[in-house]
Amino acid sequence: MTDDALGNMLAQMEAAEPYADVDEGVFERLKHPERTLKVSLPIERDDGSVEVYEGFRCQFDSARGPYKGGIRYHPGVSMDEVTALAGWMTWKTALVDLPYGGAKGGVVCDPTEMSRRERESLTRRYTEGIRRMIGPDVDVPAPDINTGQQEMAWLMDTYSMYGGYVIPDVVTGKPIEVGGTAGRVEATGRGVAITTRRMFEYLDRDLDGATVAVQGFGNVGSVTARLLSSMGADVVAVSDVSGGVHDPDGLDVMDIERYISENGVMAGYEDDAAADAIDNDHLLRLDVDALIPAAIENVITESVAEELRADLVVEAANGPTTVAADAVLRERDVPVLPDILANAGGVIVSYLEWVQNSQQYSWSLQEVNDDLELKLARGFDEMLDAYTARETPDLRTAAYVVALERVGKAHEIRGLFP
Ligand code: NAD
Repeated sequence: MTDDALGNMLAQMEAAEPYADVDEGVFERLKHPERTLKVSLPIERDDGSVEVYEGFRCQFDSARGPYKGGIRYHPGVSMDEVTALAGWMTWKTALVDLPYGGAKGGVVCDPTEMSRRERESLTRRYTEGIRRMIGPDVDVPAPDINTGQQEMAWLMDTYSMYGGYVIPDVVTGKPIEVGGTAGRVEATGRGVAITTRRMFEYLDRDLDGATVAVQGFGNVGSVTARLLSSMGADVVAVSDVSGGVHDPDGLDVMDIERYISENGVMAGYEDDAAADAIDNDHLLRLDVDALIPAAIENVITESVAEELRADLVVEAANGPTTVAADAVLRERDVPVLPDILANAGGVIVSYLEWVQNSQQYSWSLQEVNDDLELKLARGFDEMLDAYTARETPDLRTAAYVVALERVGKAHEIRGLFP
């Protein structure tokens, strides 16, 4: 058993294989990503020095459509990590039935130590590095950790400059002014909140007044916390990389968002709001109704799982639970709503953005949110059907059964080239 992201993703596939109807040869193919590109990215820093960053783009599978997946800027990025994340994208797009495959990209860097100009140079150089393998019908990037609308706009501009005309559908998560869609910024967090609510219904529990702890307060974590709070839950703890805050009576999520927009990080908010400071490790062990990891991989380790007191885990981040921790939680009967469903809202609305771009027509926020909810509900129901019909040990395995069969079927129908 391994706790690295790629080992984790492959172990999840292997665990689902006995329950899924997938041809043996096809399953063997699914374990191997189609290709991964590694690029060197020399950037002139503001002080005139040159630094060479390392970037990757992994295209995991394209049997069902163009590759799709975000771009991450983080010191912990590696080829194995982007491969795992590209695999998860493949299973996620299949589970919610989008006509996409899976991909992921990343650059090993700490963007918090870079100026805006340096981040723009890096993004443009990275785009140049991967531009021969991306494109509206080939591979469509999107935001992930430490990238957002601005990076997507730079990517779209760079790609369009090489093309000689505007090509908005090469990327999703763009600002609305250059072809983005209503609802994309909030989509992942909205999806987490919607699937959490569905999970409470399924467990026959009341979300109103339920206590929730959220680790990570970036794009996904902050929107999740805000929406769950608006649905009646008490968000009692939140954190980011700098630390966290805890108030058993519930936190004012909007006030924390205001504090972070003024100060950059959460550290110090406890003094501002008379809440208790809490570190990330303690947050994961709080006695709450739902724990929502929304930061990075592998935070719920075996020892955290043994001491975890939440009644439910909702994986807003990709791969937050190690394989060993998963086994402990299963044994302890703590349900885990898997990442490939819980955070699928982002790629669903990315898909809707891409469709709007190709039609050159814009939908209203209501239309986008309605379709998001519909697609998530379908994915949730199909996961539950597999859980019951195949008697899988947990929801993650059920979700993988749906995804593996869908991708496997596409491979079978297409055949093995040449
Ligand atoms: P983000 O960069 O906006 O926010 C990341 C947050 O995590 C920040 O608050 C950061 O301070 C915190 N963080 C980083 N390292 C941490 C650590 N070691 N301990 C505690 N907190 C830490 O990123 P995001 O887009 O919100 O992505 C968060 C997670 O959601 C990632 O796993 C990502 O892959 C996943 N995800 C994102 C999207 C999307 O649309 N952005 C879609 C699906 C899944």
